[in-house]
Amino acid sequence: MQIPDTPLYDVIIAGAGPVGLFLACELRLAGRSVLVLEKARHPHSPLKSLPFGLRGLSVPTIESFDRRGLLERLKAGAASRETPAGAHWMQQQRRPGGHFAGIQFFHDQIDATQWPYRLPGPIGSMAAEMASIEAVLAIRAEALGAEIRRGRGVETLRQSTDGVTVETAGETVQGRWLVGCDGGRSSVRKAAGIGFTGTDPEFTGYSVQVELADPALLEPGRHYTPTGMYTYAAPGTIAMVDFDGGAAHRRELARDHVEAVLRRVSGVDLTVTALLLATTWTDRACQATDYRAGRVLLAGDAAHIHSPLGGQGLNLGLGDAMNLGWKLAATIRGDAPAGLLDSYSTERHPVGAQILDWSRAQVGLMRPSRSSRALEAVVRDLINTRDGATYFAERVWGVSLRYDLGGSHPLVGRSAPDFELGDGTRLSALLRTGKGLLLDFGARPSLQALARRWRGRINYVASEAKERLGLIALLVRPDGVVAWAGEQAPDNEEASQAAARWFGEPNAN
Ligand SMILES: Cc1cc2nc3c(=O)[nH]c(=O)nc-3n(C[C@H](O)[C@H](O)[C@H](O)COP(=O)(O)OP(=O)(O)OC[C@H]3O[C@@H](n4cnc5c(N)ncnc54)[C@H](O)[C@@H]3O)c2cc1C
Repeated sequence: MQIPDTPLYDVIIAGAGPVGLFLACELRLAGRSVLVLEKARHPHSPLKSLPFGLRGLSVPTIESFDRRGLLERLKAGAASRETPAGAHWMQQQRRPGGHFAGIQFFHDQIDATQWPYRLPGPIGSMAAEMASIEAVLAIRAEALGAEIRRGRGVETLRQSTDGVTVETAGETVQGRWLVGCDGGRSSVRKAAGIGFTGTDPEFTGYSVQVELADPALLEPGRHYTPTGMYTYAAPGTIAMVDFDGGAAHRRELARDHVEAVLRRVSGVDLTVTALLLATTWTDRACQATDYRAGRVLLAGDAAHIHSPLGGQGLNLGLGDAMNLGWKLAATIRGDAPAGLLDSYSTERHPVGAQILDWSRAQVGLMRPSRSSRALEAVVRDLINTRDGATYFAERVWGVSLRYDLGGSHPLVGRSAPDFELGDGTRLSALLRTGKGLLLDFGARPSLQALARRWRGRINYVASEAKERLGLIALLVRPDGVVAWAGEQAPDNEEASQAAARWFGEPNAN
């Protein structure tokens, strides 16, 4: 029930982190009113800048930014080879593609022909600073009309059948829906009574910037030791893992503690003369039991946490936002087909569970034990083969992502290939409106008629393509996922069914 004289937003988002901001953009693109409440007064933090703010972006993330016209802005802030954090990693003769528990795979061994439905996109992989990712998204969200209020955390919430009432800094605000994008310790998740289950931490991870009396004693690069693991970028940027069961996490970090851990983990008698910046993290891996409770939804770290070692959390969260935005918008508009919103959890929960297991597998390999060193040797052998490097690239880059949507073509459920049309336009540019896309390589009257039936929700484009992978046409959801792909003279029945499944009832005339 609406409280008089209190504005009613379509969606309140808790948290102006990257996931909340990306979701705000998606909802505004679809014309929904959005209020973002952010607990912190200012977006700035030294941990969002280099060296610790560096984030590796997966292929689905890069595609999402490209499909919303944000990639160029992000590239302007992308990390260069000269960054201290990237130096030890990027300044190698072979081009590294990523890693599994610190064991690298290289571009020159990846066999992309094993991915027959991928076309080379504008770039393969990139890294960007968290501060610039958030800045790009905040500017875009506000330009689209989202309201962002900082220094206003969600404190309590109350649900009814038609909305959610939220208390923030002595004020009451109302939304038809509330999405918790408020990070790993999400107040929204707790207040909505959603369970958070998984595995306890085995280690405390440290990211520190220090001054060392004797930096030459420490060898740059990543090293496994009998007591843990550390990565050193001269002169003083260190990441290290101490298998203490997570005991030191969230404790006040003193110089002598960091020095003791560094000596223990590296096995080198170092002296830390100054502790400039420090943060800790763990390998605790937990996932929300459901991504929805009534009118409350979760996305990003609020829905899943795991060790940052695989560099996947942000990518996973942005994938949630891309999947959720258009579904929630259609639900609010009232033209969503039955079950559309539930498909958010059905599609994204298994993806999250897989990533959590991927991070656990890396912990298994990092333990300071003989069996883990033996396992490491096996993985090193495998990752150094063509099939091995391709497998790890597929998992780390997110290339293997496929939702189980049924459908007769292997492309259904996968990210749409970035087709280049006759005039040079790419598919990614055709998705910038946030609507569905029926891309017809033959200007077939039957497909034009189909598109008319969903006009307003599906854009129709007819064009030849430079390479069309044997397809005659395809239907793409607003999040870039293929809903239908046809190889022969249009099977309109299957195309219509896919349109109705994702875009609801056709227009009346
Ligand atoms: C050292 C490190 C390295 C990492 N490297 C990578 C990487 O390379 N690639 C990758 O994909 N991921 C990486 N991650 C993970 C990634 O940073 C997170 O998964 C990502 O930031 C999650 O985004 P989010 O928006 O869900 O949550 P957050 O970034 O945590 O944002 C949540 C926001 O909600 C706000 N908030 C909290 N409580 C409330 C409340 N009650 N009301 C309103 N607002 C609230 C917070 O202030 C914050 O602004 C790394 C993480 C760490 C720690």
